[in-house]
Order: sequence, then structure tokens, then C-alpha cells
Amino acid sequence: MLKYLKDIFQGIVTPFQGMKITTHYIFTPRVTKKYPEAYTPSLPISERNRLDVDMVKCTGCQLCSKSCPSHSIAIETVKAVPTDANVPVDENGKAKKLLVTKFDIDFGTCCFCTLCEENCNFGAIHRTATFDYSTYRRGELQYHFSNFTQAQVAEKKDLLAKFNAEAKKKAAEASENKE
Ligand code: SF4
Ligand code: SF4
Repeated sequence: MLKYLKDIFQGIVTPFQGMKITTHYIFTPRVTKKYPEAYTPSLPISERNRLDVDMVKCTGCQLCSKSCPSHSIAIETVKAVPTDANVPVDENGKAKKLLVTKFDIDFGTCCFCTLCEENCNFGAIHRTATFDYSTYRRGELQYHFSNFTQAQVAEKKDLLAKFNAEAKKKAAEASENKE
């Protein structure tokens, strides 16, 4: 009988104990921070985040892609033709010798080792402060830094092929004249 009464008492008291704890936490200030709405973490200088490429500085030397252990960088170049008036310029205003027609980084495979940044002699590839760029699709982690369109690439390749053919023809004519 005593146990029975004790259980009833316990059943009445327990909800009040729970409510006491709940009420306590309702009025206790939160220790967690609302991210990303109301919290921007200050990152250490050595933080390894998303990379960015300055396409004006980039020469297309491909040192970065060759040093990438994850094969995350894909670069394609087309040799610029001297007669082409529409060639991008470098940071000193000089026409580029190589056109970087493709510069993709796959952040889905990148291990953020920063070897690419260390091996770039032109300061073209560098880390940014962007660390939160998660996505639902893997393909969206593929970043394209070159803004050449497919039509422009085809046009530049065509110009180069014509220029090379012309140079070859001139060389053949010159050698014939010598003989
Ligand atoms: S980012 Fe630097 S290392 Fe990579 S291709 Fe451009 S200039 Fe060369
Ligand atoms: S940080 Fe490392 S893994 Fe990522 S692209 Fe650069 S070299 Fe490749």
C-alpha cells in the first residue's frame, strides 16, 4: 500500500520537476550562435578555403595543375596569334601569349593542400575567405574561371591553324627561293 501511494506521489511530482527544468532553460541565455544568419566566424590566417583565380595574372603555365595531387585543376590553352587584335592583356597591359581557354577547379576533389597557390609564380591562384559553399549537386563544385565561350575557343583555334599554315607556306617558299 505504501509503495502504491509512493508511486502516485512520484507520478504527480515528476511532471513538475520536468517543467521546472524546462522553465529554467527558457529564461537562460543561449550559448549557441545562430549560423549563418547572425554569426560570422573570424578565421585564422592559415585557414584553407575555396580558391580563386585571377585570370588577368594567370599565364596558363599549368604549374598549378601539375602540382595538384588531386588532379582537381583542368587547364586548356591556345597560343595567341600576333595578328589577332582581340587578345586579353596581362596586368601590365601586354597582350598575352597564351590564351587560357579553360581553367576549372573541382572543389569536390580538392583537398585544400594549397600546393597550387605555392607553386604559382604569378600570384594568380589564391585562397579566399569563403568556406561555406556546400551544395546538393556535385557538379556545382566545379568552378569555371575562364570566360571563353566555346565559339570563341573555336575561333582562336581556327586563327592559330591559319597562322601556322601561312607561316609554313612562307617558310617553304623561302627555302625554295634559296635553292
Ligand atoms: S594559376 Fe598560376 S600556376 Fe596556374 S596556370 Fe595560372 S599562372 Fe600558372
Ligand atoms: S588546393 Fe591542393 S588539391 Fe586543391 S586544387 Fe590546389 S593543389 Fe589541388
